[in-house]
Amino acid sequence: MNKNSFFEAEKRKRKYKKPFELLHVSFTFKFLKPQLFLKDTFKHKGLRQQLVKVLIDKGIKDDAVLSAIGNIPRHLFMDSGFLDHAYQDKAFPIAADQTISQPYTVAFQTELLQVKKESKILEIGTGSGYQAAVLCELGAKVYSIERQQELFKKTSKFLPKLGYRPKKLIFGDGYKGLKEEAPFDGIIVTAGAPFVPKPLLSQLKVGGRLVIPVGDDVQVMTLFIRKGSKEFEKHEFGDFRFVPLLEDKN
Ligand code: SAH
Repeated sequence: MNKNSFFEAEKRKRKYKKPFELLHVSFTFKFLKPQLFLKDTFKHKGLRQQLVKVLIDKGIKDDAVLSAIGNIPRHLFMDSGFLDHAYQDKAFPIAADQTISQPYTVAFQTELLQVKKESKILEIGTGSGYQAAVLCELGAKVYSIERQQELFKKTSKFLPKLGYRPKKLIFGDGYKGLKEEAPFDGIIVTAGAPFVPKPLLSQLKVGGRLVIPVGDDVQVMTLFIRKGSKEFEKHEFGDFRFVPLLEDKN
């Protein structure tokens, strides 16, 4: 290649590089913009550690569960009006008249589930995605069903932005479970169930655990452990209050 044709070739390259460079800049802005609002500060981290202490005082013992709660920026799962309350041990409203569960309840249910790395876990009631994030932090393969389309869409977009990647988020009716992915090591229901849906029991592995609050106005936290194809052990753990598990999609 002589000197002139070398310069010609370089010029051509530069000409084609420009539009790509512009494209790159605009992509970067598109991806960065929402991230600007996903801020986690030292103040939030400090408040989170205080919350972890509160949970220890209330009897939560599982270190992996406590450190998951210590890691997850709960304030980012809430509507901006409630930001200052994010690290109180309380439930708060989210979209579609639903709630993000109280951290103690999340910790208590997760502890009962005994999640191990790579456990296959089904959650009923994705809601804000906070419980799903706790399960992801524990290394579980997470499947989660939500019946409210608005929440399903919002949370499906939001979780990956924080780096949480459940195996599948499903818009559907949790009463039916998720037959095509069964059996599960654990199933966790995060809404108050008036009765125990049969499909959830039958989609457990032998040795698997179903954690479900059962009741109408007040729910009894209930753990079923599958002992054989038709044998289940049942344990009860006192009263909790959840929004109701409703049938069908919305
Ligand atoms: N795990 C959620 C808690 C959300 S509250 C969190 O961490 O934020 C309970 C959720 O269960 C609500 O979002 C509600 O819409 C959902 N839900 C109620 N009945 C359901 C059903 N049959 N199937 C799937 N989701 C259901």
